Amino acid sequence: MNFLEQRIVKDGAVKPGNVLKVDCFLNHQMDVELLAEIGKEFKRRFANKKINKVLTIEASGIAIAAFVAKEFGVPFVFAKKSKSVNIDGDVFSATVESFTHKCTNTVIVSKKFLNSNDHVLIIDDFLANGCALQGLISIVEESGATVEGIGIAIEKGFQSGGEIIRTAGYQLESLAIVEAMDDKKGTIEFRKQ
Ligand code: 5GP
Repeated sequence: MNFLEQRIVKDGAVKPGNVLKVDCFLNHQMDVELLAEIGKEFKRRFANKKINKVLTIEASGIAIAAFVAKEFGVPFVFAKKSKSVNIDGDVFSATVESFTHKCTNTVIVSKKFLNSNDHVLIIDDFLANGCALQGLISIVEESGATVEGIGIAIEKGFQSGGEIIRTAGYQLESLAIVEAMDDKKGTIEFRKQ
């Protein structure tokens, strides 16, 4: 098991509805030493890519993206959830269905912060059905920038997102891939990588 898998086993909790709770170290209370290690691991996995920007989605991706961006020495941008309608045409936008909150959000990125010269590494905490990632990919495409890769902390391999994204040809690196989990027994199985 790698460092993140070990931490998930130690401190993660399996909840009904295929939800893995990691709020004591990754997306509510945050362990900065772990985040730093995650940043280094993504730097290693995408070392051969020319990346000048990291993109994530609010809120849980932000802390991870910050540590990744620090490793690459580049800025990071997060797609913001927005209620206002874009009248000026000064933002790229996408509709994203939330797996955990069971609602739909419009997310936006200002045109000031993404353009056709950018080579983007997309980062998020979880990959489930792939809706968040597809929204981020469509924003990058709309801007004319290039998706150089996608880094995910925890992929739930029994949901469809990973397969969709890999089949579309993206380099998707997930630090932990949960193959199966059981909320009654509290067990978690990882895919061998
Ligand atoms: P997707 O769009 O791939 O279906 O879901 C990804 C988003 O939903 C992530 O940004 C993450 O915030 C949230 N998410 C999906 N599954 C889980 C889960 O099992 N646990 C937690 N904490 N968040 C999840």
